[in-house]
Amino acid sequence: MASSPTADNLGGRFVSIDLAADALVLLIGISASGKSTFATRHFRPTEILSSDTLRSLVSDDPGDQQATDEAFELLHRLLDMRLRRGRLTVVDATNVQDWARAPLIATSRRHRREVVAIILDVPIAVANERNRARSGRRPPLAALRRQHRWLVDSLPSLPDEGVAAVHHLRSVEAVDGTVVNRP
Ligand code: GDP
Ligand code: MG
Repeated sequence: MASSPTADNLGGRFVSIDLAADALVLLIGISASGKSTFATRHFRPTEILSSDTLRSLVSDDPGDQQATDEAFELLHRLLDMRLRRGRLTVVDATNVQDWARAPLIATSRRHRREVVAIILDVPIAVANERNRARSGRRPPLAALRRQHRWLVDSLPSLPDEGVAAVHHLRSVEAVDGTVVNRP
């Protein structure tokens, strides 16, 4: 089972996250905050539903915003199929807006799976530096700032939305020091 609803970076570098075998994990973070890196480090490739990967599958370009609707249509369908089977699933998308989270949480509720949020809350300057070092289409700094405002606004409402455990990783060190435990 997941730990307490407000489990946090307890003033230190080490966060231990316990997951149920059939959980839905929502990664929440601005572009280039390290979501995909975190997902790859802690989960199997088949457990990760990445909006960028699904955009690539429909248009050969992970940054093609015109492929966004279809990418998320696929993501929602795959999530439904996996949660129905009780397969642990990680959604690797920014997830900073409540309307983006709502259909994911509704799917977990339909299949009675617990939702765990892992918030990669690194400084905008860190994400911006990483973003600029990337190739391909990159969101501008203004988009990162906007996403960060949405992230901050989301924090108080996650429990009411149906998230059972919120792990707020408040620094690069906290993200690096996180351990994920699963059955
Ligand atoms: P996402 O957009 O949130 O999925 O972020 P990514 O996981 O793709 O990471 C964005 C960039 O930051 C990539 O070039 C990563 O290699 C880099 N990155 C991610 N996590 C770390 C980290 O912990 N340390 C460092 N130095 N770079 C990282
Ligand atoms: Mg990514």
